[in-house]
Amino acid sequence: MKKYYLFLAMSFLTLQLLGQNTFTPQQFLGYSIGEQFTRHHRVVDYFFALEKAFPENIKVVKTGQTYEKRDLLLAFIGTSENLKRLEEIRQQHLSQDPKENLAIVWLSYNVHGNESSGTEAAMQTAYRLLTDKIGYLDNTVVIMDPCLNPDGRDRYVNFYYQYGANSIDLQRFSASHNESWPGGRPNHYLFDLNRDWAWMTQIESSIRVQQYNGWLPHVHVDFHEQGINEPYYFPPAAEPYHEVITDWQREFQNEIGKNHAGYFDKAGWLYFSKEIFDLLYPSYGDTYPTYSGSIGMTYEQGGSGRAGLAVITQVGDTLRLADRVAHHVTTGLSTVETSARNAQKLVAEYQKFRKSKNYAYQTFVLRGTFAQLEPALELLKKNNIEWEKVTASTQIVSSKGFHYKTGVVEPFKLQMGDILVSTQQEKGTLVSVLFEPRTKLSDSLTYDITAWTLPHAYALDGYAVTTELKATQNLLEQAPSTFIAAEGFVAYAVRWESMLTARFLNAIQLAGMKVYFHEKGFSFKGITYAPGTLLLIAGENKNIDFHDLVNDYARRYSVDIQAMSSGMVESGADLGSSSVKMVPNPRVGILAGDNFSSLNVGEIWHFFEQQLNKPAHLIFEDDLSAALASLDVLFVPEGRFDIAGNTALTRWVREGGKLIVSGGAVDALEGEQGFGLSRTESPIIGSEPVGYANQERDQISDNIIGAIYPCNIDKSNPMAFGYDFYYTLRQGATVYEIEGKPVFELQKNAQAVNGFVGARVKEQQSGADIAGSVQYGRGTIVYLIDNPLFRGFWESGKLMVVNSIYFVNE
Ligand SMILES: [Zn+2]
Repeated sequence: MKKYYLFLAMSFLTLQLLGQNTFTPQQFLGYSIGEQFTRHHRVVDYFFALEKAFPENIKVVKTGQTYEKRDLLLAFIGTSENLKRLEEIRQQHLSQDPKENLAIVWLSYNVHGNESSGTEAAMQTAYRLLTDKIGYLDNTVVIMDPCLNPDGRDRYVNFYYQYGANSIDLQRFSASHNESWPGGRPNHYLFDLNRDWAWMTQIESSIRVQQYNGWLPHVHVDFHEQGINEPYYFPPAAEPYHEVITDWQREFQNEIGKNHAGYFDKAGWLYFSKEIFDLLYPSYGDTYPTYSGSIGMTYEQGGSGRAGLAVITQVGDTLRLADRVAHHVTTGLSTVETSARNAQKLVAEYQKFRKSKNYAYQTFVLRGTFAQLEPALELLKKNNIEWEKVTASTQIVSSKGFHYKTGVVEPFKLQMGDILVSTQQEKGTLVSVLFEPRTKLSDSLTYDITAWTLPHAYALDGYAVTTELKATQNLLEQAPSTFIAAEGFVAYAVRWESMLTARFLNAIQLAGMKVYFHEKGFSFKGITYAPGTLLLIAGENKNIDFHDLVNDYARRYSVDIQAMSSGMVESGADLGSSSVKMVPNPRVGILAGDNFSSLNVGEIWHFFEQQLNKPAHLIFEDDLSAALASLDVLFVPEGRFDIAGNTALTRWVREGGKLIVSGGAVDALEGEQGFGLSRTESPIIGSEPVGYANQERDQISDNIIGAIYPCNIDKSNPMAFGYDFYYTLRQGATVYEIEGKPVFELQKNAQAVNGFVGARVKEQQSGADIAGSVQYGRGTIVYLIDNPLFRGFWESGKLMVVNSIYFVNE
């Protein structure tokens, strides 16, 4: 009897402990986590159900939507007391003198859509933190992003269920283990979101990083998957580490790694660390947080697109989703545990990181016109990087600094309109990394680009200065838009300068205006206008509200517009000359599908739809011949498409079409008769045979992995409109020669100004062609050898693409 009462009392106690709460993932989903894949809308429902079941400890917020209109979420998990004062905690954390000893841990899942165990693990980890691991929350606030890439993940899950909904096929060769193009890894525009943190070209990154920068957590984990045969990877990360990474950031990676190892050893799970995944390129989910003061880490589980719900690995083991989830849940919880245990130290060290801004350079100066500077200022704004502008009230000082254009330290004077970016600010480390003239490599064996110098990427003049320069208060720059178009003016001239003017051109064309361009350049009222200057001519636009339209679009795009009272110019051709041509409104197609790199297809697609805002047709190879008659311009992305062998296509070019071939796609025409492209073979400088262990290291001597080179430009060519100078981001070592005069080429004996260049390919880069065009019948082939749209971040390369479609051979 006594026993019976005791039992009753205990049951009552248990119920009391659990509160009203009977929520389990299985009850809600209809299966245990790891048994099935969960589509994104159900993941969203699940998190809101958690919020309903544990309202004291979890708060779920919708932060925005993806391109395909799926919800982006953040879940805040903490003690009931902390959840009530989240904003206060955030402000305390970002203040100079925080009173809290709370570790802020941010967990990011499934940035690569087909690395599908991440989001399932997020659901389980959240549940565990709210139940048996709730003790960790005493010293932590956990911010969880259950899925960074919902479009890609649902694409993968839909694919898998198409072939594997009713039975699990364990064989790797079966359909359910072999994703069809483009796969679930990238987002809607086929971008790799784990290369986009700093550039934020994609809406998912833009929304997320804005949230992230509002919190700047102490610890950030980016959950990934790698090949099915790999064991688990966790920190410490591999060399090279960027030199700005602090001892503490290295040390805590070890601390966390050791804690994980304890759990994995106990369970008999294999893992590795210190190899492959380095910390250099600033736009990853580990480096970007690291350069923002976090302990930024990548975790990798064996799995991804080949793994499905279960698969047999090379050694004959069966890898199940449930196992993959269990590993990610273990490291996620272990991360929170280690952070909770070290909360005090994390807070103290984070403050140290913020205070010690001891960099080689203290101020970076950017110089250019409004239209040239605007895209760079936009990027700084997105990254919460503050700047100052030199105005009339600024005391103009003389200084000296490293001149990006010449590569040497020179004296200079500040000028009106100069932008000053200081490293003495919250984001100072990131500033230092993004602007550094030279990336220091502790080891050249990295798997990504090694240079990204912002002034070069944006083709801006500038200086890196070791002292602090001051100007006025930070202000959001607005163009001086006092311009008013009115009756009486014959035309308006718009300098062709950047993507800002390109967007303006496209928009005003879409609004129905005929736009002209001056091919040779001219001067009017003492002002010189370079070749490529746009001309909006009243007499050619009689059927629209011409002056109103000019005013409206000038204001909207903040472009600098000059009024002309006459069509007769002082020097150069008058407005009625044959050197003044109409800008066409070309119909653009982009090839897509199996034979093309999804990344490059996405770069071009995104460029048209989201950057230039000009519609372009995405066309599968099989539909090409039906499409050609409706196209003026066709892009061939990188891949294995046989251009020369496609007679419909070559006929279309011969009859006047314009083919744009970029990056690795140029290989398809190399050496083909009549296409004007050859490869310059140069003898490989004798290399000693190397041992097996050094082979990987030896191969990099033949490579260029994203290095920056200055170019010579043929400024008379329309492809160079708007360029004063250009630096190319070289992504390969192969040297091509374009027949005739290339528009962009490397200088003789060119040396990279930044980035890694393999020892055996250094010499042969001298004079390498970078971009140009050849005639083919009545048509044109444009070669963009270093893909200028690479990851959408090499801003200065974009104008070359715009020039190619609007001006080359028109
Ligand atoms: Zn990944």
